[in-house]
Amino acid sequence: PGAIDRLVTRNLCAGYGAADVLQSVSLNVRQGEMVALLGANGAGKSTFLRTVAGLMAPTSGQIVMDNADIHGLPPYQIVDRGLVLVPEGRQVFPELTVAQNIELGAYRRRTRPDPAELEALLTRFPRLRDRLHHPAGLLSGGEQQMMAVARGLMSQPRLLLLDEPSLGLAPAMIEELYAILAELRDDGITILLVDQMASLALAASDRGYILEQGRIVAEGSAAALLADDALISAYLGGG
Ligand code: ATP
Repeated sequence: PGAIDRLVTRNLCAGYGAADVLQSVSLNVRQGEMVALLGANGAGKSTFLRTVAGLMAPTSGQIVMDNADIHGLPPYQIVDRGLVLVPEGRQVFPELTVAQNIELGAYRRRTRPDPAELEALLTRFPRLRDRLHHPAGLLSGGEQQMMAVARGLMSQPRLLLLDEPSLGLAPAMIEELYAILAELRDDGITILLVDQMASLALAASDRGYILEQGRIVAEGSAAALLADDALISAYLGGG
């Protein structure tokens, strides 16, 4: 991973009502890195991703992507700059086929996806190949999650944000999904990942941040965070 920042937030504050959920969150993701944002339920991880993606307005602070201030831009303009959020819960269109769901990821692009591109994606997600023309609602949870990531990749992201990709998946499926995420990272895709599966997320990541009640309480290389048993049990429930 290079030393050039893809995303920087400085003193980011955001919330839903009177009180801010995010308390001055400063974080960076460099080009080519996979970074894990970890923390207990309610720590503010989804709020952070939603704010960066432009789905919520910050109350203060900066959001900089590739050296441009994206704070206050509407979500579609943020997508146009290459920041793509795969939200928790996957947002699958159950009646559409798997192929149609994936192609939706390209809807903002100026050029239509060519067959080679879909082919490359299917090589990455072999489980989806056999089911390409089935209604997406018939997929298992893990397959739907893979489809959601594939859809995100269809928009050719410069930064992919993943919210809880392992949520509700069987252990074998989680392993398979993480193996794919690691491959994507090795291909140079920059990823910011939120997950309850802290050890697994860190094992796949370069660096990590730990959020507790809206504040960053620890950050470091994934290896250093993983080796810190006290930290893991204090903030991540041993997970
Ligand atoms: P989880 O893993 O449970 O999603 P999280 O770390 O992603 O946890 P957030 O979903 O960002 O946490 O929630 C942070 C805080 O904001 C929580 O106290 C939550 O109750 C509150 N919150 C989240 N969404 C809303 C909302 N739409 N309106 C009001 N409060 C909200």
